[in-house]
Amino acid sequence: MGKSNAYDAVVIGAGPNGLSAAITMAQHGKSVVVYEAQQEIGGGARSMELTLPGFVHDACSAVYPLAIGSPFFRSLPLSRHGLDWIQPAAALTHPFDDGTAITLERPVDATASLLGSDEKSYRKLMAPLVAAWNGLAVDLLGPPRLPQSPLSLFRFGFSAIQSARGLAEGRFQGEPARGFFAGLAAHSMLPLENWGSAAFGLVLAMSGHAVGWPIARGGAQKVTDALALHLRSLGGEIVTNRPVRSLGDLPPSRVVLCDLTPRQLIEIAGERFSPRYRKSLQRYRYGMGAFKMDWALSGPVPWKARECARAATIHLGGTLGEIAFSERSVWRGEPVEKPFVLLAQPSLFDPSRAPEGKQTLWGYCHVPNGSTFNMTERIEKQIERFAPGFGDLVVRRSVMSPMELEKRNANLVGGDINGGAPTLSQLFFRPTVRMYGTSVKGLYICSASTPPGGGVHGMCGHFAARQALKEMF
Ligand SMILES: Cc1cc2nc3c(=O)[nH]c(=O)nc-3n(C[C@H](O)[C@H](O)[C@H](O)COP(=O)(O)OP(=O)(O)OC[C@H]3O[C@@H](n4cnc5c(N)ncnc54)[C@H](O)[C@@H]3O)c2cc1C
Repeated sequence: MGKSNAYDAVVIGAGPNGLSAAITMAQHGKSVVVYEAQQEIGGGARSMELTLPGFVHDACSAVYPLAIGSPFFRSLPLSRHGLDWIQPAAALTHPFDDGTAITLERPVDATASLLGSDEKSYRKLMAPLVAAWNGLAVDLLGPPRLPQSPLSLFRFGFSAIQSARGLAEGRFQGEPARGFFAGLAAHSMLPLENWGSAAFGLVLAMSGHAVGWPIARGGAQKVTDALALHLRSLGGEIVTNRPVRSLGDLPPSRVVLCDLTPRQLIEIAGERFSPRYRKSLQRYRYGMGAFKMDWALSGPVPWKARECARAATIHLGGTLGEIAFSERSVWRGEPVEKPFVLLAQPSLFDPSRAPEGKQTLWGYCHVPNGSTFNMTERIEKQIERFAPGFGDLVVRRSVMSPMELEKRNANLVGGDINGGAPTLSQLFFRPTVRMYGTSVKGLYICSASTPPGGGVHGMCGHFAARQALKEMF
């Protein structure tokens, strides 16, 4: 964008998408520097001792089906840079009040066999999708374009466009299958009655069967460190402690890629945009927030359902009715008595996370965007419900409200962990119909606010950089 350029490209923000954009630039021989506001790089993929020395907690993301399934990450030599995936025996366990549980197993048949009268329906729904995962991952983890696997995408789309509730009630008769699917679909952070909310449940179930839900040995930071090491090996630079407040803070470059959400983009470059583009950014809708907790425990969580010890990820919320009520209320702006809680117990599978004999626990629930309501007690009550005696094991807890999350990472607007609500209108074309491009030549957005949206997969950054390469070089 400048006259004599110090760099071919500058990236604002060293989250997984910012780093992926920078790597894509460097892979094409472009000089690139990343400016990160915080002292540490990683954005949503960082670990730190949030409770006590020796307890390594993942401050944001912890479980990585989309990272291990990301076509871009898979193309990078991340294991050479220290990234080692740990695959728990099962991807996920969803316990119920009666002490039973459904697990997301690697073979579709193994999960189907747990679902009683819904065994056949589950197999019929999932088996063809899982068999088509490789092609579908390419089509789904990117912007709308000509599909590589049109038939599989059509089959997926036919189910995915439905509401999660509609799909669960239409396909399944029993509460176990319905509740299990509701928990998967609740990752959408949408009411389960919303069109398109089924897509999230399907993608997460498919990924669990096809590639697993791994954690990173040593913590989320290892994902970031591997990306950063690879970027540096390609000649890319990273500067930390450098919050960008205006484009004038940047060295001259031909391209600027922003790992930012629309609100910050307006702050940094708003006056440069056309009124029409600025208006469409202003219309962008943020979604529910997260209330995040981490615990240092004196021992493993005493689950009623033994199967819970086989998976890193646990979904607490019971039935479809209860989870749907919880998500609907939060969407309407009401904190709920019995929140749907997402938990991860990494130290069960990765002893490097906690001192010997001790455990770490990671969890969050959905709350209204920007909510100041303290959910600590309600979250712990949900855990206690499925693991009586849990409270006695808590040595120390860390609590991060939506606003605390935003303070630590400006992209988490009101605690929204997905860079914007994935409503139907913002699912494919986000943040505007231009997607990665803006109304300013050479200025791009590359965060989770662009397709394919939230999650640690780097595909937003990769596609934004590809577009910049095509248009500007
Ligand atoms: C509590 C929580 C749990 C999650 N769990 C999972 C999970 O288990 N699995 C999963 O796949 N995903 C999970 N996610 C989502 C995932 O972390 C995000 O979708 C992902 O990190 C988005 O990547 P990004 O690069 O777009 O943005 P971010 O990771 O948010 O990175 C943005 C970076 O930009 C920097 N920045 C912002 N403003 C400026 C500025 N003005 N100047 C310079 N730098 C700036 C920030 O400091 C940050 O480092 C979770 C998120 C949260 C918060």
